[in-house]
Amino acid sequence: FSLLSITGCNNSSANIKSLQRNDIELQIDSILNKMSIEEKIGQLALRGTSSSEKGELPEELLSSVRNGEIGAFLNVMDTANMRKLQQIAVNESKHGIPLIFARDVIHGFKTIFPIPLGQAASWNPEIVEEGSRVAALEASSVGIRWTFAPMLDICRDSRWGRIAESPGEDPYLASVLAKAYVKGFQGDDLSDPTRIAACAKHFIGYGAAIGGRDYNTAIISTEQLYNTYLPPFKEAVQYDVATFMSSFNEVNGIPATGNKKLLTDILRTELGFDGFVVSDWNSVTEMIDHGFAKDRKHAAELAARAGLDMEMTSRAYELYLKDLIKEGIISKEQLDFYVKNILRIKFRMGLFENPYIPENHPGTFYAKENLEKAKKAAIESTVLLKNNGILPLESDAKILLTGPLANKGREQLGTWTFDGEGEPSITPKEAMEEALFVEGLSYSRDKNIENLDKVIAAARKSEIIVFIGGEEAILSGEAHSRASIKLPGAQEELLTELYKLDKPLILVIMAGRPINITNYIDELDAVLMMWHPGTMGGPALKDMIYGISEPSGRLPVSWPKAAGQLPYFYNHKRTGRPANPDKFVSMEDIPVGAWQSSLGNESHYLDLGYAPLFPFGYGLSYGEIEYGEISISDKEISNGEDFIVSVKITNTSNRNTSEVVQLYAHDKVGRITRPVKELKKFNKIELKPGENKRIEFKLNYEDFKYYDNEGRLSLESGEIDLFIGNNSNTKNKATINIL
Ligand code: BGC
Repeated sequence: FSLLSITGCNNSSANIKSLQRNDIELQIDSILNKMSIEEKIGQLALRGTSSSEKGELPEELLSSVRNGEIGAFLNVMDTANMRKLQQIAVNESKHGIPLIFARDVIHGFKTIFPIPLGQAASWNPEIVEEGSRVAALEASSVGIRWTFAPMLDICRDSRWGRIAESPGEDPYLASVLAKAYVKGFQGDDLSDPTRIAACAKHFIGYGAAIGGRDYNTAIISTEQLYNTYLPPFKEAVQYDVATFMSSFNEVNGIPATGNKKLLTDILRTELGFDGFVVSDWNSVTEMIDHGFAKDRKHAAELAARAGLDMEMTSRAYELYLKDLIKEGIISKEQLDFYVKNILRIKFRMGLFENPYIPENHPGTFYAKENLEKAKKAAIESTVLLKNNGILPLESDAKILLTGPLANKGREQLGTWTFDGEGEPSITPKEAMEEALFVEGLSYSRDKNIENLDKVIAAARKSEIIVFIGGEEAILSGEAHSRASIKLPGAQEELLTELYKLDKPLILVIMAGRPINITNYIDELDAVLMMWHPGTMGGPALKDMIYGISEPSGRLPVSWPKAAGQLPYFYNHKRTGRPANPDKFVSMEDIPVGAWQSSLGNESHYLDLGYAPLFPFGYGLSYGEIEYGEISISDKEISNGEDFIVSVKITNTSNRNTSEVVQLYAHDKVGRITRPVKELKKFNKIELKPGENKRIEFKLNYEDFKYYDNEGRLSLESGEIDLFIGNNSNTKNKATINIL
C-alpha cells in the first residue's frame, strides 16, 4: 500500500481510498490466479508500433493481443486503431485485461505550453498543474491514458539537450513542481477518463550525465543521490504517481534499469512506491552495450532481479522470462509481483470499467480557455534578464521585428511536441501585425544573412528593434546536446550589425537552454528569455512588450557566462579556500612575466571568474520591490519545532507587479559539508502600486535535516544562516541556532 493510505488514515477520503485499494488487491488476486505464465509475461510487455500501424494493423499483432501477450502500447497514433486493439483485449482475450495506451505528452498535446524548463521558470505550481491538466484533457480525448512525464531529472549543465525538459538545477523547486505535474495529469482520481497516468522519469541520475553528453555515465555519491536527485521523485511518490521510468544511464557503474538498489531498495522499500516501473526505450537490452549484460537473456535476468516491472520495446522479457523462471533463476513470485503492480494501475485507471473514450468526453483541441492558460503560462515563464527602462514600450512605437524565431510557429513549440502543430500556434509576427517584419535569417543555424540590406533599411525606418533569436526546436531535447551554448548560425553577426545602428535593441530568446550572451549583453537594451514558449508565444510576447502583462519568470538554472563554466549550480559546496565569486584576477590583468605567487591562490577561471552571468532565481519585473529586514519568531530551534520567518516587501513603483520571494538557508557546519545556499521556500505574489506585504514562511526543524553518505537523515546543533531575497545571490541575512 502506498504511503498515502498509511499516513492518511485519520482522514475520511483517505479511508475510502484505502478501502477501494483493498478491494483492488482482491480483484488483482482473483485474476492473477487464473493467468498462465505466458499471459503474466504478456502484461509486462510495452510494445511500440511501427508506422505501418497507423493504417491497417498487422494480423500478427492483433493475435498477440488476443493471446494476452501484450500489456500496453506506445505511439499508436490512430484512435480507431486504439479502439480496435482495446476491443480485442477486452472482448477476445481470455481474461479481458485492458491495454494501456501511452504517449510522450510532455508539455501539452495539441495546445502546447512552454517547455518544462520554461514552466519551471514560472516558479508557479498552479501554472504547471493547469498545463498538465490541459494536456491530460486533450490527450485522453483521443484515447491516450498514460504519459511519459514528468521528467524530474535535476540538471546542472545546459549543454545537455534534455535540460529543456527538466525542472532545472534545484531539488526543492523540482519537488514543488513534481507534485504539481502529478496532480495536473492524474487529478485526485485516476479513474476519471479525462485524466492520464503520469510517469516520474528518468530514475535516476539521467541529468547528471558527464559533460552534458546524453546517455552518459552518472557518478553520484549517496548524499548527492538523497539530497539532490531523489527529492522530486520522492514527492511524486507521495502524490501517488502511477508509474516510474528507469533511466538509460548507469549510476556508479550499474545501469539504472538493472539496478536493484535503485529500483527495489530505494523506490519500493524506502519510498513505498506501489505502481509500476517501465524501462526506457530498449534500456533493458542496452545493458548489453553498457557492458553489463552478456546477451538478451542475461539482460532480462538483470532487469527482473533489479525490480523492473514493464519492458519498453526491447522484448527480452517476452523472449526469455519464461526460461529464466523454469530454470529457477527468477522466481514465480517475482513475476507475480510485477503483474500485480501493473494490474493495480490498470484498476486505478478504471480501465476495467471504462476501457474506451467516453462519448461525452469534454476534451477539445485548442479550446479558447486553454489557449488563454497557455498564454498565461508563457508570460509567467518569461524571464526578463535585462531592462534599461526601455520595456514596456509605448503602444505607438515603430517596431522592427526580425530574427529567425520571429515567425516560426513550429519551432516556438520546442522539443517533445510529437503532436504539436505549427499552424495553430501564433508567432510574434502574427501577433504584432503593427510591427514591420523582415526575417533576416530563415532558421536559427542559418549562416547566410542574405537580406542584410533589407533588415538594415527596415531598422533605419523603425524606432526600436526587436530581435527574436535562439535555437530551433531540434537543437535541444534527446540526443541534442551542444558543446557551445552560443546563438547558432549568423545570429550574433546580425545582432552586431543591428547594434551598430545605435537604436534601442531588444533581444528575445526562444531556446531550450540558457544561451551565452556575455560578449554583447552590454549592447542590448533589454533581454527577454522566453524558452520555447509554446502555441501562444506570440500573443504572450505582445502583451509583455506593451506592458499589458509583465514577464514574471525567475531562472530555474544558473545562467552561465560560457559553456566553460559548466556544470554550474548555485547550491555548490564551499572549498578550503572559498572563492569570492564577485572578485577575480582576470587574465588581462596579469603582468607579463608574473610569477605564480604574486597572484595569490584564490581559485578562479582567469578569463571569466566563477560567477554566472545571472544567478539561479534571478529575473526582473517592470515594477520595483524593496525588501525589509528578516524577522524570525524564534531563533533557538529545537527538534520538531516550527517557527516563522518573515519579511516585509514593498512595491515602490507605480504599477502592479509581481515578485518571487525566495528563502535560502546555509548550514554553517555539518557532519558532511553543506551547500553555500539551499532554497527552502518560495512564494510568488502580486502587489499593487505602493502596496506592502509581510511574507511569512513557516519552517520546521525537519526542513534542515540532510542525508550523509551512509544515507542517515539528521541534523546537528549549530548556526544556520537564512537569506530572503529575489535570487540566490541575496545578502539579506539572519541567523538561527539549532539546539
Ligand atoms: C526517452 C523517454 C521517452 C521514451 C518514449 C526515450 O528515448 O528517453 O523519455 O519517454 O523514449 O518515447
